[in-house]
Amino acid sequence: YNVPKAINEPVKAYAPGSKEREQVLAAFKEMYNSTTDVPLYIGSEEIRTGKTRTINPPFDHKKVVGVFHDAEKEHVEKAIAAALAAKKKWAALSWEHRASIFLKAAELLAGPYRAKINAATMIGQAKTVHQAEIDSACEFIDFLRFNVEFMTRIYNEQPISSEGIWNRMEHRPLEGFIYAITPFNFTAIAGNLPASPALMGNVVVWKPSATQMLSANVIMEVFKLAGLPDGVINMINGSAGMLTETIISSPDFAGVHFTGSTGVFNDIWAGIGKNISKYKTYPRIVGETGGKDFVIAHPSSIPAQVATALSRGAFEYQGQKCSAASRAYIPQSIWPEVKEQMVKDLASFKMGSPEDTTNFVSAVITEGSFDKLAKAIDAAKASNEAEVVIGGGYDKSVGWFIEPTVIVTTNPKYDTMETELFGPVLTIYVYEDAKWSETLKLVDETSPYALTGAIFSQDRYAIEEATKALENAAGNFYINDKPTGAVVGQQPFGGARASGTNDKAGSVLNLLRWVSPRTIKETF
Ligand code: GLU
Repeated sequence: YNVPKAINEPVKAYAPGSKEREQVLAAFKEMYNSTTDVPLYIGSEEIRTGKTRTINPPFDHKKVVGVFHDAEKEHVEKAIAAALAAKKKWAALSWEHRASIFLKAAELLAGPYRAKINAATMIGQAKTVHQAEIDSACEFIDFLRFNVEFMTRIYNEQPISSEGIWNRMEHRPLEGFIYAITPFNFTAIAGNLPASPALMGNVVVWKPSATQMLSANVIMEVFKLAGLPDGVINMINGSAGMLTETIISSPDFAGVHFTGSTGVFNDIWAGIGKNISKYKTYPRIVGETGGKDFVIAHPSSIPAQVATALSRGAFEYQGQKCSAASRAYIPQSIWPEVKEQMVKDLASFKMGSPEDTTNFVSAVITEGSFDKLAKAIDAAKASNEAEVVIGGGYDKSVGWFIEPTVIVTTNPKYDTMETELFGPVLTIYVYEDAKWSETLKLVDETSPYALTGAIFSQDRYAIEEATKALENAAGNFYINDKPTGAVVGQQPFGGARASGTNDKAGSVLNLLRWVSPRTIKETF
């Protein structure tokens, strides 16, 4: 199949005086000083129910930059009906034309919409311009482009034929509609989760996170401008419980594409189980959930490399990545050097509004998140098993600001070594150098999640030992690098255990979940 060769979108630098910097800041100003009214997108309609919630920037939470409308049950039913009504024509459209729409969306994001989607991500989700760029521009564009190439690999996968017989396989979309549920922390994931099933010929009801509505609105604008027909992706919000309940009790429910917390995913899975006899077909359940991602350094590792990985891996985007380093195991011999550099790094991380592009971090997403993190920091300050060695401050008067914080604990099973906090708090356990192998065992045993992990060493035997000992503890395993920043097409992303179904976003494996193949044997 002839499709444009997918290449990773180059990351722009936003240097002072650059055109892209000027453009993104202009888009930021415009969006910040207006109020965006985000409707429900159902079929050809934009519905404003009047039951609204406000959109507030996390770094300036008293400011209102928009509203979005909540759906009632009737709107959810309407969204399902709109998806099903669009299905026949969409599924019959040839794959080249479906692909063209998403490739055009990628070009819009790479060009005219880059500043707008980055500004929406900066304001609504409190990302710095650099974090917005790698997410809402580059990663999103990469998903759209690479998915087209992966799709053709699937279509190429054909059985063998023999004399007088032609065997072939058709990769049909699933019967029914797909439910996409997306998180606040990556605009790229929010766009990809409805887009990848749609590319394969499916129709979708999409529920974005309530704290991602500004960029979700831009995603819909881009998809529509690229020519996505009405009803193929329907975006609604509202009470999550009601939405899910209504959707998974539909006999036409054919699958869920989810990124979010383990608890919510488990509830959805259980709900699907209860309804199983209602469905026309077994639904596909694809989810990426939580993580408690580790960094483990061997005594042979380079302290500066470990420190940089921790400073960036734990604190970029305020640690609000499923992949963020949130627990680390550092040998006694190198800890003083690692700590010294981290103290310097974190002192240089400026915190504030993303409008000031020299800020390295901003606020956490909600008051709920702020309170949870502040509580964990206070508990560490009061504990005789833990000590706050860097940061530890917080202030919610203007925004939900939590200082990048490092806790050192003497107990490898201390609460914040095990509980996912989803914020800028890293807990470190300093181990005796001689206990490297024991520590590897400990890391595996204390990993109910298995999303990402990183090991640092200059000793090849130690690298091999760790790679084997931790084979089930991380779906994305890094050697001498931070555990964040997977690139589409380069490091397919996802984990097992309580971290999800490991269907690797940005891979053939993910797209395969959205087709129902038919094998045809014809005899001549
Ligand atoms: N893909 C992202 C990374 O590698 C993380 C995605 C997530 O947080 O869900 O950093």
